[in-house]
Amino acid sequence: MVSSANLGFPRIGTNRELKKAVEGYWTGKNDLDALLLTAKNIRIANWELQLNAGIDHIPSNDFSMYDQMLDTAIMLGAIPQRFAKESFNSKEELYFAMARGLQTDFIDVKPLEMTKWFDTNYHYLVPEISKDTSFVLQADKILDEYNEAKAIGINTRPVIIGPMTFLMLSKFVENDTTLTTSLEQLVPIYIELLNLLAEEGCEWVQIDEPILVTDLNVDQKISFQRAYDLISKKTSIKKMLTTYFGSIHENLSLLKDLNIQGLHIDCVLGEKNLDIKLDELPKDIILSLGVINGRNIWINDLTNSISIINKFIDTIGVDRVIVSSSCSLLHSPIDLTIEDSLDEEIKDWMAFAKEKITEINLLSTYFNGRNVQDSIDENLKHISNRKTSAKVNNLSVQNRLNEVSPEMKKRNSNYSVRALKQSEILNLPLLPTTTIGSFPQTKEVRQMRAKAKKGLISHKEYDEFLLSSTRDVIEFQDSIGLDVLVHGEFERNDMVEYFGEKLEGFIFSKNGWVQSYGSRCVKPPIIFGDISREEAMTIDWIKKAQSFTDKHVKGMLTGPVTILQWSFVRDDQPLQVTCEQIALAIRDEVSDLADNDIKIIQIDEPALREGLPLRKMEQIDYLNWAVDCFKLSSSGVPDIVQIHTHMCYAEFNEIMDAIISLDADVISIEASRSSMELLAAFSANDYPNEIGPGVYDIHSPRTPSVNEMVKLINNLRTHLVADRLWINPDCGLKTRGWDEVKTSLTNMVLASLAVRKELEKS
Ligand code: GLN
Ligand code: ZN
Repeated sequence: MVSSANLGFPRIGTNRELKKAVEGYWTGKNDLDALLLTAKNIRIANWELQLNAGIDHIPSNDFSMYDQMLDTAIMLGAIPQRFAKESFNSKEELYFAMARGLQTDFIDVKPLEMTKWFDTNYHYLVPEISKDTSFVLQADKILDEYNEAKAIGINTRPVIIGPMTFLMLSKFVENDTTLTTSLEQLVPIYIELLNLLAEEGCEWVQIDEPILVTDLNVDQKISFQRAYDLISKKTSIKKMLTTYFGSIHENLSLLKDLNIQGLHIDCVLGEKNLDIKLDELPKDIILSLGVINGRNIWINDLTNSISIINKFIDTIGVDRVIVSSSCSLLHSPIDLTIEDSLDEEIKDWMAFAKEKITEINLLSTYFNGRNVQDSIDENLKHISNRKTSAKVNNLSVQNRLNEVSPEMKKRNSNYSVRALKQSEILNLPLLPTTTIGSFPQTKEVRQMRAKAKKGLISHKEYDEFLLSSTRDVIEFQDSIGLDVLVHGEFERNDMVEYFGEKLEGFIFSKNGWVQSYGSRCVKPPIIFGDISREEAMTIDWIKKAQSFTDKHVKGMLTGPVTILQWSFVRDDQPLQVTCEQIALAIRDEVSDLADNDIKIIQIDEPALREGLPLRKMEQIDYLNWAVDCFKLSSSGVPDIVQIHTHMCYAEFNEIMDAIISLDADVISIEASRSSMELLAAFSANDYPNEIGPGVYDIHSPRTPSVNEMVKLINNLRTHLVADRLWINPDCGLKTRGWDEVKTSLTNMVLASLAVRKELEKS
């Protein structure tokens, strides 16, 4: 018998019930009991859904109130001292304090840091390990949830983040704690946990070790083997070692002598997994094949999956194969059936989490002799429909792409020539000041947008409101003396959605939410077809903004890589091709802006770093095409047009070469939080073009003083050449209030003026 499994189900609830209950609990709108009940209802609904769909291995402990890494830290007793020494009213208060920080009359603690979960858009909380960490098992959550499912008749397969992944994603606070020593302390805790689960009647456990698809060094490999050798000797519960987001081929040999009963491989993102040598694996191991993509929204190509599964069955037999999702379905939206306004043809090509569960079952029953030919035929029909559909294929886009030449990805002259021409035309002072693009999206702005969407106000009224907001923001920037102005982005809800809505090839779900972190969800646009720009997208707004001032207003665009990264992408062509199509559309917009006399154009690429593949080997290829796409979008203008780009987040080090090869005339980056390290990267690499390291942190409501920023600017000058330095905040001001923005920007301009004066004297 081929059996079926799912690695995890979204936990936010079909209508984001968890978000509402959690946020309600934070604000006091609902009490803890109400939150716990909502959480329980979501778990039960998820289990029943999977049971009814016929899934054999149903997960538990995949639920979380906030984040699974945080849950794991608490389960293992990895609670940093600053929390351990406080007394909290409840375990939930401690939990959310670790997630979000807590400020009361008695307590003031900072949360754990947050960062991206591998190469997904999900963010986890980073556990902190120090010499004070004393691991101790707190198994109540995992046991309670296991028993909760058992009470409704489901013997689940609990999910645990394995010790290696847990530690490698943690932050070691002091140098004297190491992975090896911590692992030694953790292993007995895992053994205790696994034996407890076995005592409760649990047959299988899913141990997630996605770290196995990344490059491990020799020490890490030895640590892994030692830990699992001990765990597998001292526990008898069946272990499904679970890997995802890539291929395990390079670390496969680590598993050979372990006493593990199952291995899960990702058959979607791990192409090389399809050719792994089974004789490198423990004898009789059960293979779980992750053929249903947990990270995208397209139906499975069932015929293709059948042939993948068949290949494994041929070598190891039906009884040793499990059909599964590639990774947890956490990364896909929940329910396609409630989408009532999607294009029907395109909807037939799509599957959200609920539909994916059905696909898993369909595949396993196919191998167990049930007649599912009708479903397979229908699937074939949709797959071939999608291939040939006029909605997907746009010949002129494809032809244009074929004609892209290397010259189109290069500016006419190199930076030094351009810089001279630009400085003659732009006439900017030393240390020019600017902002990143957005100004506060106040409640009023959001309300007006919602009203316009619902038809409660006319388009005309809405446009007039936007226009007066734009005029005000230009006047404000003029009044405080900023040098290069922006239009404020009031017409944009989101920097990707705005462009997606204007481009052909995108559609939008109503309720396709995916958890981003904690209670925050995102609803990514869906790219289904060839992308083209039918008409200008930003020209009107920028032109109007420019008409209100004599200073230069920046054209403001989102770059192709970021649009790609923050959307659900096509799985029927390489990412690079989709990205090139977006790049051509943006290129046209850049040209239009230039033709309309806009001399400075910013193309934001905050997601460039995010797309970096997990394995070093694959990174170069990605960076090459990502850089090429940016250049394709930015190079179609004369030398006098100054191209800016913007990136947030640190960790630029590994991609410094790529950043330099973008050849933007000016780059603005986040620097205020991680200043030194970052500047060291830019100065060590002798960053050749102009740069605006953010001089204040827009993520905090704090307003920095003139003096503080003068110091910072002087500090910047020791690392970077003043002639090529810009002064700006570190990101858009969208989430800030007007009061803070006014003070901070006024101070920023004054700080720049003060340093400018000093420089002009000397
Ligand atoms: N131009 C955008 C803004 O100012 C950039 C946002 C971002 O970097 N995420 O909001
Ligand atoms: Zn930013």
